[in-house]
Amino acid sequence: MKKELLFMGPPASGKGTQTHRLSKETGYPHVDTGSLLRSAIKKGTETGLVAKSFIDKGQLVPIDIVAKIIKERLMEQDCQNGFILDGFPRSLEQALALDEIKKEIDAGKEVDFKVINFEIPEDALLERIVNRVSCPVCGEIYNKKFTPPKKDGICDKCASVLTQRKDDTEEVAKSRFATYHKETEPLINFYSTRGQLINLDAQGTSEEIYKRIKELI
Ligand code: AMP
Repeated sequence: MKKELLFMGPPASGKGTQTHRLSKETGYPHVDTGSLLRSAIKKGTETGLVAKSFIDKGQLVPIDIVAKIIKERLMEQDCQNGFILDGFPRSLEQALALDEIKKEIDAGKEVDFKVINFEIPEDALLERIVNRVSCPVCGEIYNKKFTPPKKDGICDKCASVLTQRKDDTEEVAKSRFATYHKETEPLINFYSTRGQLINLDAQGTSEEIYKRIKELI
């Protein structure tokens, strides 16, 4: 059966960290719109240029851009048996777009589709964001305060120099939270009404949260 997991939750709720690990363990690719967009920016494509202006303000990138990127990614060979979606959909409009994409990519397949909603109080998240650094090579995520690398600024896993995201500042983060409440939070009701939503207590150590996820999926 094709496995489709959709991870949703406020910025810095731990989706990326958990998806990264789950993807490595299960083999299902981690499909993350934020990373796909940042990669387009790095490559200097026209899509990247447009996306950058929205990302820098903590706003949602227009749907035609993200839906195209996601559709192309989900049609790739490695996603045929399943995938873990992180950061898409982020609005009702995008959820409806995903329904359309799923009609194409799921045709003739039996699918197990689950939405995991990361529940966590918001006051803890801002501090996570401003202290977050990650490895641009292997994707490992650290927190300078809570889960620092062994050697300052260097990835434990692959020894690359860690970087901080440009939008991980207090000012942009506040705007990302506002966008989350206005655009993304209504999806909780949307997927809950359909019986597809599973709430996850996203507080605790990374290990504890991972164990809970494994039980839920
Ligand atoms: P993230 O890495 O998931 O925190 O996303 C970083 C930024 O990329 C967001 O603040 C948005 O500007 C943009 N972005 C990521 N995913 C989406 C999406 N599904 N729709 C629109 N914009 C997105």
